[in-house]
Amino acid sequence: MAEHTSHLLSKPSFQQLIDVLRSSGYRVVGPIVRDGAVVWDTVQQTGDLPIGWRDIQEPGRYRLEQTGDDRIFGVVHGPQSLKPFSFAPRESLLTIERTQNGFATTPTIPQSEKVAVLGARPCDVAGLAIQDRVFLRDAYADPYYQARREGLFLVTVHCTRALSTCFCASMGTGPRATSGFDLALTELPEGFVVEAGSSAGEDILAKLERRPATKEAINAANSRIASCAKSQMRALDTSHLPQALYDAHEHQRWDDVAARCLACGNCTMVCPTCFCHAVEETPDLDRQRSEHTRLWDSCFTQEHGYIHGKNVRPTIKDRYRMWLSHKLASWIDQFGSSGCVGCGRCITWCPVGIDLTEELPALLKPDARNTNRQT
Ligand code: SF4
Ligand code: SF4
Repeated sequence: MAEHTSHLLSKPSFQQLIDVLRSSGYRVVGPIVRDGAVVWDTVQQTGDLPIGWRDIQEPGRYRLEQTGDDRIFGVVHGPQSLKPFSFAPRESLLTIERTQNGFATTPTIPQSEKVAVLGARPCDVAGLAIQDRVFLRDAYADPYYQARREGLFLVTVHCTRALSTCFCASMGTGPRATSGFDLALTELPEGFVVEAGSSAGEDILAKLERRPATKEAINAANSRIASCAKSQMRALDTSHLPQALYDAHEHQRWDDVAARCLACGNCTMVCPTCFCHAVEETPDLDRQRSEHTRLWDSCFTQEHGYIHGKNVRPTIKDRYRMWLSHKLASWIDQFGSSGCVGCGRCITWCPVGIDLTEELPALLKPDARNTNRQT
């Protein structure tokens, strides 16, 4: 882990962080409470943030409650990860227009916007690194993703409270962020322990009224992060992956989970790493111009598995198996890491509470049908 020098920022000075980011040209985005959930939106003052709120998350359940305390980042996370900031849910890729001699195409690459995200969680910073691997690797960098990604400044908040659905400690992605951020904060009653993780972060930090963090403050921050890791109720044992999941391809448990799964696609929409998308063509009525649009898609839809006159994943069992096997097994072969960062969102936002930390161990147990056959 890289060593970062720690500073202490008092709670009243937090507004200064927002002001300095804004005067440095960033649109500052943070978590805000809207319609019973926390979502990202532009913030101008500390008071816009969800002070005193905390989230309760369980399989198929999300609830916010006001505690009356002064914690700014008491809410762990909402349904959105960092994904929409770099991989837009819907965006125009190019327009095609008729010309006298045929047609002309014009790419619609977005302008890079400077956006500072306050309160990104370590699991989401890890999820963004995985998306970077997918969209920016080698010669195949996606220019649309790249333009959005270049403008991002990430202020992560190390977690000091775990949800019942969190399992980042077992995935090695939290509750402390070790890289990928510009500034990292740990919230304490007296203020924030702050570290810079990039030169851009150092520049912002240098403009803040801060003092060196005392040993006591650093120890208190470390101890809160360590307690958060210990308190996690869920974990994923990935030591036998990817092979054990390939070996479970015909396991009876796939039928069991398929009987519960609604193929709604919620798990893929909230997942910080899922990147499936579709492309739509929208012609004008006069057939002179057409827009080519990319939008998030899900491997749980019928259409996504439809290739050249045949659906390669016609059943829900095929689709759930595809999703989990990609996420936890073939992703490792494809990209060199798991496709899961342990944020737990797919557990919370699944309407029937399907929990991959239950499904994986069940799939790795001997198949009851084979056991019965042998006895
Ligand atoms: S699979 Fe679930 S727990 Fe893992 S990163 Fe995606 S949403 Fe989070
Ligand atoms: S696992 Fe849950 S969230 Fe995912 S598609 Fe099935 S029902 Fe929807």
